[in-house]
Amino acid sequence: MKEKTTIALSHPVFGIVSEAAKDLHVETYVVGGYVRDQLLNRDCKDIDFVCVGSGIDLAHKVAEKINPALTVNYFKNFGTAQFKWNDLDLEFVGARKESYQRDSRKPIVEDGTLEDDQNRRDFTINALAVSLNNDSFGELIDPFKGLEDLSNKIIRTPLNPDITFSDDPLRMMRAIRFATQLDFTILPETFEAIKRNKERIKIISQERITDELNKIILAKKPSAGFILLEESGLLEIIFPEFQKLKGVENYEGKGHKDNFYHTLQVLDNITKTTNDLWLRWAAVLHDIAKPPTKKFVPGEGWTFHGHEVLGSKWVPKIFGRMKLPMGTEMKFVRKMVYLHLRPIALTKEEISDSALRRLLFEAGDDIESLLMLCEADITSKNREKVRRYLMKFETVREKLKEVEEKDRIRNFQPPVTGELIMQTFGIGPSREIGIIKEGIKEAILEGKIRNDYDEAFKMMVELGEKLGLKKKQ
Ligand code: ATP
Ligand code: MG
Repeated sequence: MKEKTTIALSHPVFGIVSEAAKDLHVETYVVGGYVRDQLLNRDCKDIDFVCVGSGIDLAHKVAEKINPALTVNYFKNFGTAQFKWNDLDLEFVGARKESYQRDSRKPIVEDGTLEDDQNRRDFTINALAVSLNNDSFGELIDPFKGLEDLSNKIIRTPLNPDITFSDDPLRMMRAIRFATQLDFTILPETFEAIKRNKERIKIISQERITDELNKIILAKKPSAGFILLEESGLLEIIFPEFQKLKGVENYEGKGHKDNFYHTLQVLDNITKTTNDLWLRWAAVLHDIAKPPTKKFVPGEGWTFHGHEVLGSKWVPKIFGRMKLPMGTEMKFVRKMVYLHLRPIALTKEEISDSALRRLLFEAGDDIESLLMLCEADITSKNREKVRRYLMKFETVREKLKEVEEKDRIRNFQPPVTGELIMQTFGIGPSREIGIIKEGIKEAILEGKIRNDYDEAFKMMVELGEKLGLKKKQ
């Protein structure tokens, strides 16, 4: 006889579900992610329950016991029900058996046993179930040695991986995502099957692919995921621009950085300082247009002139295709890509206040994010070089602070308005107003006048007179 493993289910919800299941005479289990995360000591707020019977009825019974005022959301077509209780998200489903057809990831679903239900799960570590039944409460049901794979840190499909991945190709992305999040290894046999089935990813909706990609980017070491995506051949299909960063060209004995690994280093670096998905996306995309701008210039070596401009133009295109949000998030990433060379350029020259003011003006409130991206962008095998750069960068940071305190450029508002210009010269809306405003802004950024009302007013009168306007008395 196999030794029985029991899992401590200390949260009161498990006792309540167990009672409700007993009332309804249905076998019930906790399955999937919650069990896995419990065994890994990871925090998990989503709990999935499977019962051999109606998940919808069970959900209602449980909710009634907790608080009859709770609203249960249920989907008759799928036989699933869900509700929230405090910070927990509880999901209930009847055990099912699934069979797939070739051209769709929508399976034919029938009622089934717990075993059927475990068979349809994606990985051994996700197929663990814990009994909530009275006679075996807390017992682990582990038909595929998921526990062993958990302790060996292995991702493996419970059944033939070629069938598992072909049935639902999203599982290929999930395998890589779990390997990245959990720092696990995908079993070579399983990984080979991903390589063989990579083309099948094309039947998956972009939203779901992007969801998984975002989870990879949000992991502690996203580079691991991108390397697996590349090795499996999936990267070329889902993100060809990123694939093209890979490789080094040599000319007259001179190579350049491999931009694939450089970008991954930048991404891993920024991961240490921010959890913000969009700043991490900026790291992913900062050098994305290096391949088409690459040129060998004698005397200069390899150059990538204009890659920040072209890259920023690609951002909306890539966001659109990836179904990422096209509002403030996309604009933020586009701006980061566009400006990512500017702070670094400032470390190379005598820093003028006007250059600092211009950068503050363009970056606005995103200046701190931009500086974080630039610091992450300092990668070199030479530790000393990195240290020196980071020190120079500290100087840029301090100078920016000084200039900002003096001139308040970050959230630049013109000290004189269009209204005031019209009033002063007794004119209506016209192009002169734009010219005057632009002239004042330039003078402030160049440091010819300070960012205040009196100096701006004086300048407005001068500029107006040069344009042939007369100040009203
Ligand atoms: P996370 O919540 O961190 O994404 P999870 O393992 O809980 O991880 P969910 O997407 O919440 O993942 O799914 C819950 C469970 O449902 C999984 O543990 C797995 O057993 C099963 N599952 C989810 N998606 C699939 C799939 N595409 N194929 C097979 N089983 C799946
Ligand atoms: Mg989950």
